Amino acid sequence: MLLPLLLIYVLKLSSGVPLTDDISPRRGEKCGYESCTQAESGLLNVHIVPHTHDDVGWLKTVDQYYYGSRNNIQKAGVQYILDSVIQELWQDPKRRFIYVETAFFWKWWVRQTEEIRQKVHTLVRQGRLQFVGGAWSMNDEAASHYQSTIDQFTWGLRKLNDTFGPCGMPKVGWQIDPFGHSREFASLLAAMGYDGLFLGRLDYQDKGARLAQKRMEMIWRGDDDLGNSSDLFTGVLFNTYSPPPGFCFDVLCDDEPIIDDPSSPMFNVDARVSAFIGKSLQMSVAYRTDNILVTMGDDFQYQEAGMWFKNLDKLIEYTNMKAAKDGLNIKLFYSTPDCYLKAVKDANPTLPTKQDDFFPYASDPTAYWTGYFTSRPTTKYFERQGNGYLQMVKHLQVMANLEQHNEFVLNELKSAMGVMQHHDAITGTEKQHVAHDYERLLNSAIEDATIIARQAFNKLAQDDASEPPLFAYERCRLNESSCAVSETTNQFVVTIYNPLAWDTKEPIRIPVKFGKYEVFAPNAEKIDSQLVDIPEAVKNIPTRKSEATHEIVFIAKLHAMGVKSFFVKKINQKRKRDTRKNDYYTNISDYWKNIRDKTNIDIQNIEDVDIKNSYFPIRDSVLPDKYSSNIDNIPILVNYGNNIDGKVNVVKEIDIDLLKDKKITDYGVGEFERIIKEVYGGKSGEGRSFDRRWSYPSLSEDEMRMLSDEPRVVERYDEFYLENEFMKLRIDNETGQITHMILPDRTTNLKIQFSYWTGCYGDNTNTTLRSSGAYIFRPKTKDPYKIAYKNNGTIKGNVVYEVRATTNENAFTTLRLYKDLNFVEHDFVIGPININDNVGKEYIVRYETDVNNKDVFYTDSNGRQLLKRILNKRSDWNLTLAEPIAGNYYPVTNEIAIEDNNNRIAILTDRSVGATSLNNGELEVMVHRRLLHDDAFGVGEALNETANGVGLVIRGVHRILNIDPKNDEELILERKYVIANHLKPVVFVSNAENVPYETWINLNNCFKGIKPLPLGLHLLTLEPWDDKVLIRLENYLEKSDNSTIEIDLSDVFNNLKIKSIRETSLAVNRWVGEMEKWVWNKENDFSDSFNNAYGADYDNNSDWVKNDGKLKHEDNGNAKDDGLKVKVEAKQIRTFLADYDYIPPITKSKFKNF
Ligand SMILES: [Zn+2]
Repeated sequence: MLLPLLLIYVLKLSSGVPLTDDISPRRGEKCGYESCTQAESGLLNVHIVPHTHDDVGWLKTVDQYYYGSRNNIQKAGVQYILDSVIQELWQDPKRRFIYVETAFFWKWWVRQTEEIRQKVHTLVRQGRLQFVGGAWSMNDEAASHYQSTIDQFTWGLRKLNDTFGPCGMPKVGWQIDPFGHSREFASLLAAMGYDGLFLGRLDYQDKGARLAQKRMEMIWRGDDDLGNSSDLFTGVLFNTYSPPPGFCFDVLCDDEPIIDDPSSPMFNVDARVSAFIGKSLQMSVAYRTDNILVTMGDDFQYQEAGMWFKNLDKLIEYTNMKAAKDGLNIKLFYSTPDCYLKAVKDANPTLPTKQDDFFPYASDPTAYWTGYFTSRPTTKYFERQGNGYLQMVKHLQVMANLEQHNEFVLNELKSAMGVMQHHDAITGTEKQHVAHDYERLLNSAIEDATIIARQAFNKLAQDDASEPPLFAYERCRLNESSCAVSETTNQFVVTIYNPLAWDTKEPIRIPVKFGKYEVFAPNAEKIDSQLVDIPEAVKNIPTRKSEATHEIVFIAKLHAMGVKSFFVKKINQKRKRDTRKNDYYTNISDYWKNIRDKTNIDIQNIEDVDIKNSYFPIRDSVLPDKYSSNIDNIPILVNYGNNIDGKVNVVKEIDIDLLKDKKITDYGVGEFERIIKEVYGGKSGEGRSFDRRWSYPSLSEDEMRMLSDEPRVVERYDEFYLENEFMKLRIDNETGQITHMILPDRTTNLKIQFSYWTGCYGDNTNTTLRSSGAYIFRPKTKDPYKIAYKNNGTIKGNVVYEVRATTNENAFTTLRLYKDLNFVEHDFVIGPININDNVGKEYIVRYETDVNNKDVFYTDSNGRQLLKRILNKRSDWNLTLAEPIAGNYYPVTNEIAIEDNNNRIAILTDRSVGATSLNNGELEVMVHRRLLHDDAFGVGEALNETANGVGLVIRGVHRILNIDPKNDEELILERKYVIANHLKPVVFVSNAENVPYETWINLNNCFKGIKPLPLGLHLLTLEPWDDKVLIRLENYLEKSDNSTIEIDLSDVFNNLKIKSIRETSLAVNRWVGEMEKWVWNKENDFSDSFNNAYGADYDNNSDWVKNDGKLKHEDNGNAKDDGLKVKVEAKQIRTFLADYDYIPPITKSKFKNF
């Protein structure tokens, strides 16, 4: 079998050892800017840039594209492109070519002979083949997260660096096809040391204005807090990335070749040259220097590169001949984006500036590419999980000091995640079979890489890598509330890794079968846990294969970069109970009927009932002391009359003080029955709050109304509260929807409403007949269809308090408050989306508040900075909006927020989505799409995802924060919550049937990897790098007087003794001292803060704008470090390669009695 051999070779190459001296230029050889054909001043310099755009999956899978299979779908084979291009470049030293996607290049490279490789080395050393971009794939910029972008650039560039050295180093970003461009991406490129960035797709109105005003090239500031270090030259290509019309010489094109035989009746040199000169002059009008970049290539072109080069050779030759003959000031030559950029720089133009981003992208008045922000929500969720696994295995490989050969599987996951960042992968704009292939790739990479976690957990637990593992550490599908291990065993271990460099608390929900469970922490403490039933809507997810009926919920306190295990056992009941009957009792009237039928109630049964955790109603008349002394609330079963199916159980609580205070010994079932009947009896459809009722136990409704000062006292019955130590949520009893969020110092109206847009359908023959599709969001109506909610029950226990609501439109929601956690969790199940009416639908959730945000909202840029958005407005041009809904959608990677003086509401998402704020006080997040028509941008399929024969069902979780906008501390915590929501703990479950608790408790079940970092600092990367370790420290604070954080790296990691560090660029392909920042003349200054400046004229009483009035100083390089004590400035990411010694953890003596 060939593959393993090749992969071993890949591994060897990536070790960082240069193969030969092939990578250094020889005498007379020049690469990089020195290899460029010199532009001449006073002439129009036409840079002919041959290129190919090779999607890492789109209409075909990665492999189908590479090998050129399924050419009936698209005639495209990347291996032939590279074969052919290398051969053609070799023919003539004047010819140039660029290559972009390292995923494809690497696939090709490892399959080449030594002879071909030597040729490629030569071409690279001589600057004839140049790499641009150079990441594993051409990054999407809307749905991607900055951590994954950095990772996939690091991975791609490392391959190029290890193989070709400095001559293989890309100098420009090449984002010619992504559907909109993010500000954070520009900031990252600047930090990686790129000199410039080229873009293909710009909003048609933006591009029109830029063409007219010669603003196609600009200096883009990536981050206000980072200042000029984040500035980047950015150029917009004239023809997106295609050749000028009529000049496509590819085998896939029909344009006429250049026919230069004068005796031929088809001789066309004069006409072709004149036409090309015309196109060139037309282009030059839009640019400020005497240089234009002409892209000569397109999707998967150059499979027969000779056709292109032969014709380009002639075009260049004859145009230059004509110029010489006629005295025209024009010169054509082979060039590259690097060489074009260098020529622009040498011309020393003064350029306009850009400070926001390029979202959303519209290609015509009805084509807003804002649907893809949400398309394929499960793919987007899975990609996010992939990142969690990748960070975890990188950390554990280093912290557990595992064998280096593990890097093989680590690299497989890096590659898969690199593919996922491609602008047709995470975007959801690929064909269905390609989406399945991405899932396959990522899933097998995760599965392979988790061997690292398993080894690490075993080694850390047993203090010895050679001990046979006690546990299997299985992944579960927790998003479907299913877990093969925990739901089939009575005893299991939950092992959790916290990838954050600070201590954290996270709710953990493990699917189980009904029963009583106890959860033990590593210190043998039995911790609070709660058994919660799994809602029908989750049980019915078509892809779910599970016998779990409940989840055991507990709050895990986790250490910074720590591994912690919890032992969970199911408690056998002393006395056999009829569980079937108990399930049956979920209908309270049946329960009472049963009680009445039963004359003898077994008082001892109370001993069997876990009052704290179980569903079981209290059956006896006396509460044993042990309960009354330490339990405040007893859960009992009740049933709201308005449950639609009449069988969903509901646990409410009764204040036990009622029992304690009365000191009545026979205050038992009879009394409960009386109370419950009083509260609920005969009033179906009008659920009543227990809490309220207890306040007036002996009064009738009418009496209460008369006694109350509040005129709307009746309505108080129609609501109840979820509550924890941070807040109370007022819930409408009828619908189960929240109405208010009550904090100690303020109350905010908050309603959560699912609705859907119906997608436009047309035949796409003109813009008014555009369909909503994988790329395009185009709703048919001005208002969405609102879905009606029905209360589906409330659960309260000692860990979580939740209310559920169901609908007739396949939307199910749960709202939760956890003990000790300062956010609201909104868990929802959506789908299958009904298409029986032949109408595609796009599901949204609206968070409706009384926050007076005055048309302003904030969305994040790849998860790292928040950008101000103003409804119906763009900062760079006067907007004409034919699509007022779709045109106000923006990408959200982690967060969308609105604020006024008193409240700031932030929604944190568990995956990338599209979102907006269309009405005052409102946040709208699109969560699912099912469409029946293609939008005619190439994918050729409707976005109609199905699973197991029905429409795809998704489950998601949003976290809702209510922040005091005047409180800086809370604003910093918000940032921390965002990072924590992105890097959630990773959970594994192991069967422990054969491992007694006594064995487990003697293992090392609590590993702490790092001392918690100070507030403001995030450990973005910990990754093995040959015999070194790669460390990225990120300061997540906004700039202020005390935002610089110092940290001593010699005293951070518990098991790594850092000996020395050396700083590199963000993508680790050059030392930081080798980076030279180009300085450009700017037409205008940057604002200190885009967010403060944008709209300042728009809203004159903008007292809500957070403007401290302080001038932010421009930083000049890094603050001075002192050895291993490094300073990280606001918003900075600093990247170090470190030498270190491994210090084995100090552990309990090894447990050998097994
Ligand atoms: Zn593309």
